[in-house]
Amino acid sequence: MRYIGSHLSSSKGYLAMCRQAEKLGANTFAFFTRNPRGGAAKAVDPDDMAACGDYLRRHAFGPVVAHAPYTMNACAAVEVTREFALRAMAEDLQRLEHLPGQYYNFHPGSHVGQGAEAGIELIAAQLNAVLTEEVHTTVLVETMAGKGSEVGRSFEELRAIIDRVEYSEKLGVCLDTCHVWDAGYDIVNDLDGVLVQFDRVIGLSRLKALHVNDSMNPLGARKDRHARIGEGHIGAEAFRRIVRHPALAGLPMVLETPNDDAGWAAEIALLRSFEV
Ligand code: FE
Ligand code: FE
Ligand code: ZN
Repeated sequence: MRYIGSHLSSSKGYLAMCRQAEKLGANTFAFFTRNPRGGAAKAVDPDDMAACGDYLRRHAFGPVVAHAPYTMNACAAVEVTREFALRAMAEDLQRLEHLPGQYYNFHPGSHVGQGAEAGIELIAAQLNAVLTEEVHTTVLVETMAGKGSEVGRSFEELRAIIDRVEYSEKLGVCLDTCHVWDAGYDIVNDLDGVLVQFDRVIGLSRLKALHVNDSMNPLGARKDRHARIGEGHIGAEAFRRIVRHPALAGLPMVLETPNDDAGWAAEIALLRSFEV
């Protein structure tokens, strides 16, 4: 059975997310560690997080994927913005020690005119500052659509980040289907070719999670507008091949589509129907 789920609200806590996931027919989920557009994080409740870990084990869930706030920009030109990014990531990873063995994914950031090269150095510097022997979470760099000055729109840029990190065994990649499509990787007509390229540049063993989103825009549009599965330019058939692909079988596949609970339950069921 594939690990399939959606992004969930973390407002009621960790155990509540597990129950909500189960209700939607999911066996994985994603969530924001804090307000995605602000910065504040709620107080840690170690018991709630331990109960979540217990639930994940007892219900044979796959890894769950915490998502860093969008405001985190490790390669900002402004120093206070970089300092916030560093502090937020360090704090998030510290909290996640109450739920060890899971994933934490973040957007590499936007270099805002400093150039991709400089951006890559700053992102790697942040990762080197937060990744220590004591971290029991795998940090996932997300593939980006390449809108504006986003770093991470090519596999080569992600590889360059990984190459500069000392504890790189604690690093992986989260592949967002909408983002790679918008970045110009044709997962509709050549999924195998894209995965071969990923393997050659980064290594498939680094691929730890998928964000499963259709795209409102055509290949290479560099826009990043998610659509519901089957309602965008990627189309349902491509998602059937993604769900069934043997190289992707063990990965958590998380929906970030514009939906309500009923919509997510339906999309999770749709993706499960592709398994067989
Ligand atoms: Fe994301
Ligand atoms: Fe995503
Ligand atoms: Zn996106």
